[in-house]
Amino acid sequence: MYDVAVIGAGIAGTFIARELTKYDLKIVLIDKDTDISNGTTKANSAIVHAGYDAKDGTLKGLLNAKGNAMYDKVCTELDVPFKRIGSFVIATNEEEMESVRDLYERGIKNNIPNMKILTEEEVKEMEPNLSKDIIGALYAPTAGIVSPWELSVALAENAGDNGCEIRLETEVTDMKKEDDKFVIDTNHGEIEAKYIFNCAGVYADKINEMVGEKTFEIVPTRGQYNILDKSVGSLVNHVIFQAPTKSGKGVLVAPTVHGNLLVGPDAEGLDDREALETTSERIGFIREKSRKTTDKIDFRKTITSFSGLRAKPSTGDFIIEESKDASGFINVAGIESPGLSAAPAIAEYAIDIFRNINTDLKDNENFNPTRKPVIRFMELSDEEKAEIIKKDSRYGTIICRCENITEGEIVDCINRNAGGKTVDAIKRRVRPGMGRCQGGFCGPRVMEILARELKEDIKNIVKDSRKSYILTEETKQA
Ligand SMILES: Cc1cc2nc3c(=O)[nH]c(=O)nc-3n(C[C@H](O)[C@H](O)[C@H](O)COP(=O)(O)OP(=O)(O)OC[C@H]3O[C@@H](n4cnc5c(N)ncnc54)[C@H](O)[C@@H]3O)c2cc1C
Repeated sequence: MYDVAVIGAGIAGTFIARELTKYDLKIVLIDKDTDISNGTTKANSAIVHAGYDAKDGTLKGLLNAKGNAMYDKVCTELDVPFKRIGSFVIATNEEEMESVRDLYERGIKNNIPNMKILTEEEVKEMEPNLSKDIIGALYAPTAGIVSPWELSVALAENAGDNGCEIRLETEVTDMKKEDDKFVIDTNHGEIEAKYIFNCAGVYADKINEMVGEKTFEIVPTRGQYNILDKSVGSLVNHVIFQAPTKSGKGVLVAPTVHGNLLVGPDAEGLDDREALETTSERIGFIREKSRKTTDKIDFRKTITSFSGLRAKPSTGDFIIEESKDASGFINVAGIESPGLSAAPAIAEYAIDIFRNINTDLKDNENFNPTRKPVIRFMELSDEEKAEIIKKDSRYGTIICRCENITEGEIVDCINRNAGGKTVDAIKRRVRPGMGRCQGGFCGPRVMEILARELKEDIKNIVKDSRKSYILTEETKQA
C-alpha cells in the first residue's frame, strides 16, 4: 500500500509529487495518458503571470504572486528554461486605460513588485513593433515565460529520482474509501493508498464524485493558438496582453522561451473534455484580434496551431481543500489560469493541508532537489561540443535539422526517470519536430531511436496516445 497517491501528472500533480518526496513516504503518481503533462499543462500560454489580475482575497490572488516568486529557484534546480521578460497590458483608448489603472490598483493590493504605468512614448521605445494606436500600458517586470511541459517532466523526473513511483497509462475508473485507506480501481488493477491528491485537471470533478457528493463542476473551456517560426520570434520583447474590456480579454502576443512567437487564445465553453481540435473560424478570430496589438505579424510564418482546455470551476476560484465526505482526500481542482504561475505555491498550500492531517511526517534525508543537467547541444561552445562528441559519438549525429537536435539528446531523454516513450513525448522533452517541418523529416528517425532504446517493435511506437499509431505493417517485404 502507498502512503499517498497523486492522481494527475500535470503541473499541479508533478509539483505536489516532488514536494511529497521531501518526506519519508511511499508515493505513486498516476496518469491515464502515455506521458507526463499531456493534459492542459501541454497546451497553454506558458506565461508565469506577475499576479495583478487575480482578485485579492481569492486563492488565485494569494498563490499567483507567491508562485511567480518561486520560479527562479525551481527552474535552476531542475535545469528548465525560464525567462523573466516582463509583461505589458496595452490600452488603445481611455476606457482601456481605465482598465489598465484598475489592474495596477489590483496589483498593488496583491503586492506585485515594480509595476509601472507606461506612457505612449515609453511603450514605443520598449516595443517598437506595436500598434501606433496604443496610448499607454501596464508594465509588470516580474512576469515570465517558461516551457510548462518541460517543467512538469523535470518535476516528475526529480520526484522519480527521489523515490516516487510513476504509473502512466493508468486510468482511475473508480474509488472507494475503506476504513483508513482508499482503494482505487484502474485499468491496470487496484491501487491502495492512505491519502489522495486529486489533480485530475478537467476530470477533477469526476474523481471527486467517486468519494463524495458533487461539490463543484468543471466546465472545459477551449483556447486556440498559432505558433510562428523563430524568424519572427523577436517581433516583441515582452508578453503583450490587451486590456480587458466588456467584450472580452483579448489575445496575447508573446515570444516563447525557445524563441517562437505565440498568438492566442480565444475562450470557448464546451461539453467535451477531449475536444482539442483547432478550427479555421477561431484561428481567424485570434489573428484578427491580434491586429489591435500589432499589424506586423506575418501569419504565413505560422508553423502550427494548437488548443488547450481550461478546467473552469463552478466556484470561480482554485479548489484546494480536503473533501468533507472523505478524510485524507485532498482536491487540487479548478486549476485554470493562473494555475501554471501559481503551481509551486499551490503545491506548498496543498502540502500544508496534508501536514495538518498527518502530523508525524518525517523528512526524507536523501532528498536531492537537483536533476542531472540536460545537454542542449546547440547551446554549447565548439570546444564543449567536441568534448561531448568525444565522450559519446551520438551527440555528433543531428536528427532534427530544424531545431538541431542530436541523437545523444534524444537517447538521454528516453532513458531518464519519466523518460519519453512516444514521438510527441520526445518532441516535448528535447524538441525534434517543434520546428518548421513539424517532424516531417526527423519523425521516422525518432521512431527508430525509440524502438531501439525501448526494445519495442517499431509498429508499437505511437505519436501520442495509444490510438495514434503511425505504422501498421510492412509495405515492402524482402
Ligand atoms: C488556453 C489556456 C491558456 C492558459 N495560459 C496560462 C498561462 O499563461 N499561465 C498560467 O499560469 N496558466 C495558464 N493556463 C492554466 C494552466 O495551463 C493550468 O492551470 C495548468 O496546466 C493545470 O494543470 P493541472 O495539473 O491542474 O491539470 P492538467 O495539466 O490537465 O493535468 C491533469 C492530469 O490528470 C490526468 N487525469 C485526468 N483524469 C484522470 C484519470 N481518471 N485517471 C488518471 N489520470 C487522469 C490527465 O491525463 C492530466 O495529465 C492556461 C490554460 C489554458 C487552457
